[in-house]
Amino acid sequence: MGLLEGKKALIFGVANDKSIAWAVAEAFRREGAEVALAYANEAVAKRVMPLAESIGVTLTLPCDVRSDDDLKATFAEIQKAWGGLDILVHSVAFANKEELKGSILNTTREGFNLALEISAYSLIAMAKEAAPLMQGRDGSIISMTYYGSTKVFPNYNVMGVAKAALEASVRYLAEGMGPDGVRVNAISAGPLRTLASAGVGGFTQIAGIVAGKAPLRRNISQEEVAGSAVYLASDLSRAVTGEVHFVDSGYNIIGL
Ligand code: NAD
Repeated sequence: MGLLEGKKALIFGVANDKSIAWAVAEAFRREGAEVALAYANEAVAKRVMPLAESIGVTLTLPCDVRSDDDLKATFAEIQKAWGGLDILVHSVAFANKEELKGSILNTTREGFNLALEISAYSLIAMAKEAAPLMQGRDGSIISMTYYGSTKVFPNYNVMGVAKAALEASVRYLAEGMGPDGVRVNAISAGPLRTLASAGVGGFTQIAGIVAGKAPLRRNISQEEVAGSAVYLASDLSRAVTGEVHFVDSGYNIIGL
């Protein structure tokens, strides 16, 4: 029997087959979960639909996380289809490309607000909608973060600030939702080649340095992130909440 047998999971953030959210969706299906995919817009729909079909997912919902109406409609569909929700995966981030290179002093007010809204506030907005659906179901919420929240990485700039807000949100949500049995955790993944990371200046150099210095002396894969997501979604981690769990070949423990 799979680790997620009988569980219902809503996953935000599949854009293509390199998305971390896609590896998570595949792993959740393998472990027996029912899965729904929420995708950003019509532009990504043409890539998401065939992927969904390939793993037997029929519930695919358009949702721009900047819109409260979209979020409400998405969770209403989940309520209608499943009558509740066990697992929510937040694998969504965005910042303007020109603010992910050079100096943080180039950050605009609009760019800052956009990055924080899509990459951090959206977790709180989703949790708000998920809370009534997770009542009495020992729910698990998982978000994706990066070490740039805590340490300075070249070009990560406003996204580092957004990830710091995201990780603080994870802790506050964990406390706020804990009395209802809902757990909230984040996975801090090492660098992975995806659409999102392609927007960060000098990504290839960062990945090379991590591979050279991390205790495991290599980069990670989307599937390795998905493995930890299965653990955090399953009853194996039923006493774990408010954590930032590193899946980074151990890079974060290295000083010099
Ligand atoms: P990705 O580009 O495949 O995923 C990002 C997703 O965010 C996309 O599906 C995109 O459509 C979605 N998105 C952006 N704006 C949105 C909006 N307004 N409404 C709804 N969805 C929106 O890239 P990824 O690397 O899989 O990123 C997933 C998460 O993992 C992000 O939070 C990212 O910061 C995090 N992460 C990535 C890495 C890496 O190196 N790739 C490392 C650590 C953490």
